[in-house]
Amino acid sequence: MSKPKLALYWASSCGGCEIAVLAVHEEILNVAEAFDIVFWPCVMDFKVKDVEALADGEIDVCLFNGAIRNDENAHMAHLLRRKSKIMVAYGSCSSEGCIPALANFTSRDHMMQYIYHDSPSADNPYNFEPMPTWEVPEGELTLPKFWNTVKSLDQVVKVEYYLPGCPPEAKWTATLVTAAAAALAGKGELPPPGSVIGNTDTVCDECPRERNQKKIKRFYRPYELKEVDPNLCLLEQGLFCAGVATRSGCGALCPQVNMGCRGCYGPNEGVDDIGARLISGIASVLDADTDEEVNAILDTLPDPAGYFYRFSMSHSMLHRTDIGHTLQRSGDQG
Ligand code: SF4
Ligand code: SF4
Repeated sequence: MSKPKLALYWASSCGGCEIAVLAVHEEILNVAEAFDIVFWPCVMDFKVKDVEALADGEIDVCLFNGAIRNDENAHMAHLLRRKSKIMVAYGSCSSEGCIPALANFTSRDHMMQYIYHDSPSADNPYNFEPMPTWEVPEGELTLPKFWNTVKSLDQVVKVEYYLPGCPPEAKWTATLVTAAAAALAGKGELPPPGSVIGNTDTVCDECPRERNQKKIKRFYRPYELKEVDPNLCLLEQGLFCAGVATRSGCGALCPQVNMGCRGCYGPNEGVDDIGARLISGIASVLDADTDEEVNAILDTLPDPAGYFYRFSMSHSMLHRTDIGHTLQRSGDQG
């Protein structure tokens, strides 16, 4: 009997998710044993035409990492969706937009202006910008069109499962792949479509630090504190921590090394907007009675929007800021 088919793809992301797949260590042998890997361009020399040659639905499971920020990402998302029975948004970029979606706080035009013209490192005497098409004697060269808005995978195609994390912890990758292999062999059941693979509670629930309901007068950057109490909640020491609104599953990795959680597992179950939930969670530790005092404390938090939506901007209720809509070029899908 032929083995089920597995595909892995990398859209707009840093590549960490590809490494995270390999972090399952020897389990990767079980993956290779259980599946025929039919597409994994990061690791083996597959071509897009290899995917195009497959029948619709022939891929059993596709682990798709990376956000959708250009035409090529979208084309591959649609192609792999058509060819796959189970589409998994693998990692934070694919699930929620992650770091690429911080670009939704600005616009494509602003980014191009800064990167190619205004940045201190720009050396561009002819004022070039990437051209989607360029005529050469041999014909027309094309580049994927860069979108104004970064989207999560499920904002472009239907997704069966989400595996959050930047990158996902290996144990959840192993859980997903093992469960999928068992279900495809008729020996188990997968969770209902739309499920997030992982826990439902928060990073605070798995964090070993003590919470004493201590209030703070200001926020600090880690380097501003001479010492960080290794046992006390970081938030109660004035260090920003998103654990209160973030799905558990990593084992509270960051707080255990004196670094506040940044929210890479996305909101915990039942929370639609991680930023809104964080604002209410953080409000509970502010030592303030008036609006002025609240504002003074929040003024010590640099880049609050970046803190509240670092991994979740595409999936947030904001989705993007108005400046991008104002500057959006006509015909843009993003
Ligand atoms: S806010 Fe951060 S440091 Fe405090 S208990 Fe939650 S995860 Fe731990
Ligand atoms: S503590 Fe937060 S930011 Fe760090 S790995 Fe866990 S979920 Fe991600």
